[in-house]
Amino acid sequence: MSGGELVARLAAALGPKGCLVGDNVTGRYAADWSGMEYRPSVVARPENTAQVATVLELCNEVGQCVVVQGGMTGLVGGAVPQPGEIALSLERLNRIEEIDRLGATMTVEAGAPLESVQEAAAAAELFFPVDIGARGSCQLGGNLAMNAGGNRVLRYGMTRENVLGIEVVLADGTVVSAMNRMLKNNTGYDLKHLFIGSEGTLGVVTRTVLRLHRKPRSRVTALCAFDSFAQVTGLLQALGERLAGELSSFEVMWQDYYRFVVERVPGNVAPLEGVHPLYCLVELLGGDQTRDQEALEALLGEMLERGELADAVLAQSLADASKFWRLRDSSAEAAGVAGSFVAFDVSIPLARMEEFVSRTTAALIAIWGDGICLFYGHMGDCNLHLITTRDPTRPDMKGRICEAVYEDVARMGGSVSAEHGIGIEKRPFLGKSRSAEEIALMRTLKAALDPKGILNPGRIFSVARTQ
Ligand SMILES: Cc1cc2nc3c(=O)[nH]c(=O)nc-3n(C[C@H](O)[C@H](O)[C@H](O)COP(=O)(O)OP(=O)(O)OC[C@H]3O[C@@H](n4cnc5c(N)ncnc54)[C@H](O)[C@@H]3O)c2cc1C
Repeated sequence: MSGGELVARLAAALGPKGCLVGDNVTGRYAADWSGMEYRPSVVARPENTAQVATVLELCNEVGQCVVVQGGMTGLVGGAVPQPGEIALSLERLNRIEEIDRLGATMTVEAGAPLESVQEAAAAAELFFPVDIGARGSCQLGGNLAMNAGGNRVLRYGMTRENVLGIEVVLADGTVVSAMNRMLKNNTGYDLKHLFIGSEGTLGVVTRTVLRLHRKPRSRVTALCAFDSFAQVTGLLQALGERLAGELSSFEVMWQDYYRFVVERVPGNVAPLEGVHPLYCLVELLGGDQTRDQEALEALLGEMLERGELADAVLAQSLADASKFWRLRDSSAEAAGVAGSFVAFDVSIPLARMEEFVSRTTAALIAIWGDGICLFYGHMGDCNLHLITTRDPTRPDMKGRICEAVYEDVARMGGSVSAEHGIGIEKRPFLGKSRSAEEIALMRTLKAALDPKGILNPGRIFSVARTQ
């Protein structure tokens, strides 16, 4: 089958809305948030699982490479087409099929935006806890493919922990339906985990059964300031002991980040006076607003009295809480204001986090003395983000910065990607966090499920292709 014949067969199978070519392929299918960009010549837009299967069966037959696209909010270039690839967009599979209030599950198609899933759960007095800044655009299929993390991992886990069932289409068009709805099901391999976090390299997610939770009745938010890193870990431990089960966010911001977003990002205000080495946003989700607020207030008060905290303020309203969260969520705007930058999303064991920050800062200053290093992150999950500026006139600088940061990550036993994935952007650094044996096993799985290597080739690791 020639390329022209393939497109004709795709168009016949998918109908006029289902297959875009030429000028009908808009910029939406060309770029994600990684900064990479390439416009594909063909976009397949199936509207159900059977059509996804047809697209893959036809492409597999002729060895045509396919890139899977969700909401295009990824940060590592996984959904950005490479030359010669056809894009397969899940945007038309966006139905919420069913909410089971008793069993606390939701059955949903992969192209549904995360925010609409959260809203549908809330309307049924239930709660879907996965939450990320891109909630309005990212899709459930993308969240599963990337095993997205976000702001509430500490309490509810990553996407993986909130999925009960999955339906995927394999590279050759085989539909595998594992739409389990129960928490317990130990009948052999738990296949969903093979696909969650596989970045679209092993199969295309078409539907999923989500695990919902009872809707929290209270939300208590505080911003704390510290004189030392030991004080930060002290509060994390105390919260775990005294308010176990309710702590949902523990977001740390180093002074340089905090001051940068307060002083340079329009619309932000400093809720605390003075300047401190570290700040932390704490959030509890619980069952009783008055009781939970009093419990956190009491704990923070005692710690302030004992000199275990430098300062703290409790949100008195939703508007206060939004102001606190805005500081933490200003990272994308901060990167924009900083100019040419490199962003990192790493995991570092808590015991070595302070050492990592000081070592890495020193290494980056040695590369470029005038650079800015902004550290912040979901510290309760060991997840650290770093935004550092680079000199745009020196093209070698990004590579040197990445080498320096990932060298330190490897030395500390950390991970080069905490939650954003590997995609294409971080592929050269996978070996800093995974052993040769682990990568070989990943390749074995890829070869077994996609022997021709047509599905998202080159994401996570390079693949040898056979026709
Ligand atoms: C402002 C902002 C904030 C963010 N915050 C966070 C955060 O806190 N935590 C976090 O983890 N991430 C975060 N991200 C990254 C991104 O939003 C997530 O990775 C998200 O899960 C991607 O979903 P998507 O639908 O946009 O996927 P896309 O970007 O379209 O695709 C991402 C990858 O998944 C594959 N894929 C997409 N859909 C499917 C499918 N149905 N089946 C198989 N493979 C598929 C693609 O091929 C690609 O490899 C953020 C991004 C932005 C822009």
